[in-house]
Amino acid sequence: MLVVIVGVVLILLMALFITQVFTPAGVAQAIEGLAAAGTDAARQQESEALLRAFRRSVLTSVAVAALGAVIAGVASSLVLSREILRPLRDLADGSRRIAHGHYAERVEMPGSDELALVARNFNQMAEALQQVEQQRVTLIANVSHELRTPLTGLTGYLEGLMDGVFPGNEETFAQLYQEVRRLSRLVDDLQDLSRVEAGQIALQIERFDLIPLVERVVNQAMPLAEAGSLSLALVEPPKRLEVIADPDRTAQVLLNLLSNAVRYTPPGGHVELRVAQTGLEVRVTVRDTGIGIPTEALPYLFERFYRVDNSRARRSGGSGIGLTIARHLAWAMGGELTAASPGAGQGSTFTFVLPAAEPRLPQRGMRNAERGMHNTA
Ligand code: ADP
Repeated sequence: MLVVIVGVVLILLMALFITQVFTPAGVAQAIEGLAAAGTDAARQQESEALLRAFRRSVLTSVAVAALGAVIAGVASSLVLSREILRPLRDLADGSRRIAHGHYAERVEMPGSDELALVARNFNQMAEALQQVEQQRVTLIANVSHELRTPLTGLTGYLEGLMDGVFPGNEETFAQLYQEVRRLSRLVDDLQDLSRVEAGQIALQIERFDLIPLVERVVNQAMPLAEAGSLSLALVEPPKRLEVIADPDRTAQVLLNLLSNAVRYTPPGGHVELRVAQTGLEVRVTVRDTGIGIPTEALPYLFERFYRVDNSRARRSGGSGIGLTIARHLAWAMGGELTAASPGAGQGSTFTFVLPAAEPRLPQRGMRNAERGMHNTA
């Protein structure tokens, strides 16, 4: 725009300059000069001089206009390129610093043009990278913290054995074995966690009857429940309920929910399972009368290494990743896993949803069972 404006202004000036040279008085003078020329040769000379003056004035004004346009063009392109290049250079510097690990880097770009949009997207990307880095640091801290607990136990027992504080009898070896089991369980869980989070878990999706599987898992968890003086029951299961999922992973999720329910329910309590279908969803609800989950803890329940009561969960061998794995497995099978609890001390309900093999109309019993639950995660 600047070059165009300068060009137009100079052309106007040039036109003004030419018209000034060729004023009526000047033209009259030239005509007089021509008339005064006595001979043809003198007239020829006069008209040639006139033509030369005309050409000179036109050329001079065009040259001045061209020079002005060139200067204006060069100056404006210098200014513009600096305006565009500066933010681009900022972006290049910012991305280089991020590549070197400075994730707090942000670029500033006022305005609302395309470059500002690029800057905004760049800053969003930097923020996402910063969060991933933060999660990575937290994960390493959590994993090393979790590994330290069984390792400290093992070291203590072994030192006690070496110093003769602990006798080398069956009981001590059983304790050592427990610690090693705990360690290997944790490593297995971590491996599962990394696989499910990376979406690399191999699933054997098939159509199968869920009822026998649930019965098997309940039988598996029965000794645990009996050891904790709890009642564990599968309530009014339908005869047959087909789902489309991975049977082994389904059993893994259910066993995790049941062992949690048993672990977090004091003696004398109840744990019950219900299986029902609504539309295209099969819901398995695991309800216990245990310690419940405080409302403020519900949103974090499925986060890795999260434990409502750290000391209690750790004493019972919990690492806080069971539910994270279970939810990822439910998602991977096209289902869902949610938790609900009216509050601490009031029991909890976990709902595991799986895709049904065939649709069915909503069941009234299931709806009623869900009413009354307030806080969910
Ligand atoms: P953990 O191995 O510690 O049990 P989970 O991921 O399975 O890890 O559970 C995370 C946390 O959720 C537990 O530490 C516990 O605080 C809480 N939780 C899980 N299930 C229940 C339940 N049925 N009742 C009360 N709290 C529960």
